Amino acid sequence: MQISDEMKPYEDKPREECGVYGVYARGRDVARLTFFGLFALQHRGQEGAGIVTCDGEVAWVHKGMGLVPQIFDEESLRPLRGHIAIGHNRYSTTGGSNFRNTSPYLIESIDGPLGVSHNGNLTNTFALRTMLLKRGVGLSSTTDSEVITQMLAAPPETWLDGDLMDVDGDYLDVWQHRIKAVMQVAEGAYSLTLLTRNGLYGVRDPLGMRPLCLGKLGDQGWVLASESCALTTIGAEFVRDVEPGEIVKIDDDGVHSIIGKQSERRAMCIFEYVYFARPDTHLEGQSVHAVRQQLGRQLAIESHVDADIVIGVPDSAIPGAIGYSQQTGVPFTEGFTKNRYIGRTFIQPDDQLRKDSVKLKLNTLSDNLRGKRVIVVDDSIVRGNTSGPIVSLLRSAGATEVHMRISSPPIKHPCFMGVDMATHKQLIAYNLSVEEIRQRIGADTLQYLSIDGLQKAVMAGLRGKEHGHCNACFSGKYPVAIPQWLFEDEADAPVIGAWGQ
Ligand code: SF4
Repeated sequence: MQISDEMKPYEDKPREECGVYGVYARGRDVARLTFFGLFALQHRGQEGAGIVTCDGEVAWVHKGMGLVPQIFDEESLRPLRGHIAIGHNRYSTTGGSNFRNTSPYLIESIDGPLGVSHNGNLTNTFALRTMLLKRGVGLSSTTDSEVITQMLAAPPETWLDGDLMDVDGDYLDVWQHRIKAVMQVAEGAYSLTLLTRNGLYGVRDPLGMRPLCLGKLGDQGWVLASESCALTTIGAEFVRDVEPGEIVKIDDDGVHSIIGKQSERRAMCIFEYVYFARPDTHLEGQSVHAVRQQLGRQLAIESHVDADIVIGVPDSAIPGAIGYSQQTGVPFTEGFTKNRYIGRTFIQPDDQLRKDSVKLKLNTLSDNLRGKRVIVVDDSIVRGNTSGPIVSLLRSAGATEVHMRISSPPIKHPCFMGVDMATHKQLIAYNLSVEEIRQRIGADTLQYLSIDGLQKAVMAGLRGKEHGHCNACFSGKYPVAIPQWLFEDEADAPVIGAWGQ
């Protein structure tokens, strides 16, 4: 069942499209390890999940719709044998939300089984899909992940004309060769975990738009994960990020790395720091939690106002509120309790409950708020449907002033690189000025972090290392060419291919 926005009226957050995982470990129950890895990545996709395993000859798959613990139990994990596994959590943008579109994909190729888990979104899916269909390749779903799978299974001969050796003069195996060929024509965002008879592969697009990291499990096992938090869950140690444009192959001899496609630029999604990634994850060598605190400090530098307390909208804005408090000396306290299970219900609220839907998720701690001038920090506003109710809740609890501070810039543009970020029409900051939004939500003041401030806060922990980030949903400057037809309202389309730092 699809979790539509109508069913989650208390939420106003963009949705990360997927989490990917992979384990190579002889003598371990790789399906069970992958289950717990996917469980740790549940925040990256809640519509469906799946696991594929392989023993070097035969492959097995189990997948379904819903949350990871709803799909897997002892009975469904038991048949998933072997020493190689990949897993996937899914939301949907390219392709609807139904069972046919759940991942990982598993097909039989001329070189044995191929399993594919994909996080991201190709921007040239339509062209590639048409090319495959013209070649007589049948497709059974509407996702770009299936397009990648079929391209890997049957790349045209012309794509395979390239080098058969890596820079050290070692021969590429058949899958390294195919992956490299497909990377030359695939455009957009992709972090992949692939399973074949030869081993486990991890692939990251040349701009590194979506994260992917490598971990070590005991003496001989290896793990690939969208986020480092899913390594520690199963007792693996973080080794490093998979580099943009890199292909890693894992087999009994360890990890082999080749460059699949090089790029001078980098464009990791900056929203991973703002909201998507779990706070205990490390990206580009820095803690997401620490960056969120820094975003709060920077926000305070740019937009401070006199107040008695600072609170955050749980959970993702709490580190930002703490950072704001550290910068200003205004005491941090808790203003809300959150029902952590509300995202798991499929029961729609009735009309009356829908009007007060934020109350299904948040309750105020009125003793902390009564008679106080409150700064409330949130990490982002997408449609603006929950900010007004949050302000009302705080006033009802006795707050005398409510100053809303957002630890990211106004979201004015949709995302085509793997995040469900609505359309121009649905984005409140595309349609209204900051002052108009303030009036709409009923706050005494409203201020967002600047794009420069966001960049500065993220770069603070990178200590001068060269890292470019995509910030297109704030700036409209997309790091890859976006086909015009993807924009809902073409007249307002930003410059195609314009590059923003
Ligand atoms: S447009 Fe926004 S959400 Fe999409 S990849 Fe870029 S920064 Fe991330």
